[in-house]
Amino acid sequence: MQRLLRKKKRRKAIKAVLFDIDGTILNCNGAGKRSLLQASEEVFGTSGTMRHVQFQGKTDPNIIKEALAEHHVQVQNIRREMDRFKSVYFEILKKNISEAEVTVYPGIFEILEELSRNDNILVGLLTGNFTEGARIKLDKHNLNRYFTFGAYGDDAETRNGLPEVARRRISEIHGMNMDFSSIYIIGDTIHDIGCAKFSGSVSVAVGTGWSDIDELKNEKPDYYFDDLKNFNDFIKILED
Ligand SMILES: [Mg+2]
Repeated sequence: MQRLLRKKKRRKAIKAVLFDIDGTILNCNGAGKRSLLQASEEVFGTSGTMRHVQFQGKTDPNIIKEALAEHHVQVQNIRREMDRFKSVYFEILKKNISEAEVTVYPGIFEILEELSRNDNILVGLLTGNFTEGARIKLDKHNLNRYFTFGAYGDDAETRNGLPEVARRRISEIHGMNMDFSSIYIIGDTIHDIGCAKFSGSVSVAVGTGWSDIDELKNEKPDYYFDDLKNFNDFIKILED
């Protein structure tokens, strides 16, 4: 009995680590944006202001709604056409990603390998990408195998709704009710930090994307890294 108690005490708490994709895991070098533009033109006859819309940290459906709003494309039309839009977009994205140079940021492979070997860590996604779009981007470097669950752009109206979706998936897939304080959200924009704080999760910001570093730091993430090259420094924060 005493031995059992000691063993229990030593057991580490389970944590979840949720990664953003663009600017955090990889850089598609414009293939994602190009594909959304092309699909929008094909399905809605216009890409509206998409060329100038800030993509970072937003969900795919919100980018489309925002870009088309001023071009008299009604939100109900966008909703009605969303399934068709997605199938057109995924076909275009597949082609563009296959032709694009997709680069994975330093340290990411090492971190995913290390975390996948750790029974106390659940590795998932928290991204504004459509579910299938995320899969297509990650497939280029065979990264899908590391993620057992995710919360995606088509799961909630805004990014702030995604941590709750992720928590629900952890419960459905892994059978545990996890406290938000055990969930780490890694991303490259103020919106990633914002949704972590909104939910009471731990925010980890990385400077690998397109955000202004000072702007990121001003949001006071729990942790900040210029990049994840020194991957052991990142692994260490999960042991805190
Ligand atoms: Mg990002």
